Formats: sequence, structure tokens, C-alpha cells
Amino acid sequence: MKKEYYKRSTCRLCDSTRVYSGVKFEATPPGDTFVTQAEINRAQKRYPIDVCLCEDCGSIQLLDVVNPEILYGPYLYQTSISLGLPEHFRRYADEVLAAVAIKPGSLVIDIGSNDGTLLRCFQERGMKVLGIDPASAAVKTALARGVDTIQAFFDRNLARKIRSERGDVGIVAANNVIANVDALGDFVDGIRELIEPNGYFVMETGCGASLLEKRLIDVVYHEHLSYFTVKPLEGFFRRHGMKIIDAYWIPSKGGSIRCFVQADKSSAIPKPSVREMIYMEEDKGIGTMDSLRKMGVFITERKKGLTSLLDGLRAQGKTIVGYGASVGVTTLLYLFGLDKYLDYLVDDDATRFERFSPGQHIPVYSSVVLNEKNPDYVLILAWRYTDPIMKRHEKYIQQGGRFISLLPELKIFGVS
Ligand SMILES: [Zn+2]
Repeated sequence: MKKEYYKRSTCRLCDSTRVYSGVKFEATPPGDTFVTQAEINRAQKRYPIDVCLCEDCGSIQLLDVVNPEILYGPYLYQTSISLGLPEHFRRYADEVLAAVAIKPGSLVIDIGSNDGTLLRCFQERGMKVLGIDPASAAVKTALARGVDTIQAFFDRNLARKIRSERGDVGIVAANNVIANVDALGDFVDGIRELIEPNGYFVMETGCGASLLEKRLIDVVYHEHLSYFTVKPLEGFFRRHGMKIIDAYWIPSKGGSIRCFVQADKSSAIPKPSVREMIYMEEDKGIGTMDSLRKMGVFITERKKGLTSLLDGLRAQGKTIVGYGASVGVTTLLYLFGLDKYLDYLVDDDATRFERFSPGQHIPVYSSVVLNEKNPDYVLILAWRYTDPIMKRHEKYIQQGGRFISLLPELKIFGVS
């Protein structure tokens, strides 16, 4: 992809042209580009975010595609390795190995393997492993830890190369990866070639049902091109010679789905869970234009409520700051027009401190400043962490500070 941005005209899953806008979000710059003081005069271009629905297969997606070099550039060249959550990864490896029928010592491939933390857990369980990740710093760390890793974006050509060099593959894992892939058909064709005849593709991804039901509106940003539900995925895999044999919800990232997929030619019979997930989605009307429009109405009403609250506080001369500095927070800042209310943002991730939010350039400080600066109100933008944030800042509350939760409810917390 050479252009910095393009708008797709067809559904990413079924190639239909009947893909229509359901909720238009405010255009934002790439949501993770928190800039330094030195970069502040460089223009940051905004790109549209329009949540669309395919009227043929029911998949929820963005047609707005920003060039990955622009979106992920900083990750590819800077050292930004997430601290692995070893406990989570150990449990994952145990659950997956218990669910699949593969020989001990089979090859496990992780797409988006980062520093190899997940693969180490498979290694400890006697499996052969191979990581694939485009980020050079992460790959370096993985290799130093003894996790064989290829530095690349995954595609069909790479799949063929791996298959010819390494033979049969037991498991291909991709967690929080496939929602970010534009050329999804090519991607899963590569996976099918890797797992044929009896291997497994295990994917975890953010889910459209949680987006709509739990109003996870801050998961909507350019990196997330798809908001998957099981029904359209089932048809998609079928068209690419595969079948979903198990699917269920998992709590990560506010609500995700985990699917086990095999090649058509495997003898596995899909579990009833797959049908049950589809029935549940249909029952709730997920994947209908109506469900998207309802989310649009919710956003409009929440914006009205929030704006009137913040206008009132400003009129009383109160100081207001925001808590959170992440890609999802950028979505919220633009969607609700918050830049004019917030003096600054605070966060607990040191890589954000002394930087400025994308485009609007709201300064970001460590959350310890709350105790020194004592703003009157703190609007919690990282809303899924509302409880731990308030617990962490009891002192600020004791000093008379107040928190405002934005989601799921608009509510003020503090000592009365
Ligand atoms: Zn479609």
C-alpha cells in the first residue's frame, strides 16, 4: 500500500459492495501518535472513522484504511515492548493445548508474537515454536530469550515459505491481530496452507457484540478495521476452505471472542457452541443496521449529557483534567469534543509523559501530579480502569478531588 489512506469499496469478508455507514465517528489523527514538544509543529492529518455494516454478511468494519507504515511506524522502529502478562499466557497455553488434538512436540506459530512471552509458555510445555512479528526490537528480545522468530508481516508468501521449510504445523495463534488486517482473504489463505490438514488456527479478537452491547466505543480506531461477530466469520472461513469448530466469549479487552478454526478437510465436527453464538448474535440483533444506529443515538445522548455537565463546571470556574492517554482515548477526545474542557491529561504509562495528545496537543503528565495540582475534577477516559484508578488516588479524593466516570454511566464520585 503506497497511499497514506484509501477507502475500500467492498466488504473485507465477503467482497460485497453493499457496505453502508452505520455510525460516523469524528476523524482523528492516528490515535497513538502522542507527540513530543519538538514534534508539536508538525501537522497531524486526520482520517475518517466510519463504522460500517455489510448488508450481505452482517460484518461490522471500517472501510477507512490508513497505511500501516503511518499507523505502526513508531512501533516498528522504537523499543516499545509490552510487559508480558506471564500468568495470562500460561493459562492460555494450558487451555489451548487441552482443547486441541495434536502430537506432543508439534510446531506452534504465533502471529504478532512480540517478545515471545506466549511462545515461551508453549516451549515449556514441550512444543516447538516460531514467532512472527514486524517489530525489530521485540524480535531481538525474543531471539535473545531463545524463541525462534521471523521479523516480518504475515502473508501468504511467508506462509508458503514456512510450510516448505518446516513441514506440518500444529497450531497457528493470532491474538488481537486479525482485526487489524485489511487483506484478510490473503491472510487466512496463508493460515489454511499452514494448518492443513489437521492443525488449528486459534484466534482471539475484539468482538462486535461487545462493542454494541457494552458500548466499548473507545475500541473504535483506525487500527481496528473489523469488529467481528461469529456469523459473518463462519461464512468467511467457509469460503476460504476452513470451518470454525469452537467459539466462545472471553473477558479480555472488555469483551472478545476466541475461535478455533480448522481446514475443511480435517475430520473435526463443529461444536454446538458455534451455532449457539450465532443464535445469540441474531437474538440480540447484533450485525444489523439498527444495532449500529442505536449506538449512534447513545453516543449523541452521552455527548449531550457530558457537554452540559462540563459546561456547567467550567461556568463555575472549576478545573477539569482527563485520565488516560491511549489510542482509544484519542477516539473519545475527538468524539466528545473534549479538548476545550481539559487542561491536561494524566496517565500511568511513562512513555506518554511530557508528550501531547494527537492533533489536539493536550499535554500529558504522570498521574502523581493530581496530588500536587489538585484539579477540581478528573474525567476518567480510561473508563475500564475506573475502580483501580479511584483506589490509586484515594488521597486526591480525600483532598476534595472528584472523579467523573464517562462510561458505562456518566457519574460523579467524591467525598460529599
Ligand atoms: Zn460482507
